[in-house]
Amino acid sequence: MTEPGKVVPLRPERPCPMCGKPADPGHSPFCSKRCADLDLGHWLGERYRIPEGEKSGTPAAEPNDKDGD
Ligand SMILES: [Zn+2]
Repeated sequence: MTEPGKVVPLRPERPCPMCGKPADPGHSPFCSKRCADLDLGHWLGERYRIPEGEKSGTPAAEPNDKDGD
């Protein structure tokens, strides 16, 4: 027996990665803008914490093979 008009979702929405609540389609994959912002802030924070000052684009010393004239 089929029930016309009743749409069964293939699978439940994935829970919000931030708080575990059912994700909202408008803020997928989060449940709300707040969680999305929280995740974004977390992401930016992580990025800022990554030290990448070691590799300062210092150009290699030019080979001075033009010695003597
Ligand atoms: Zn959430």
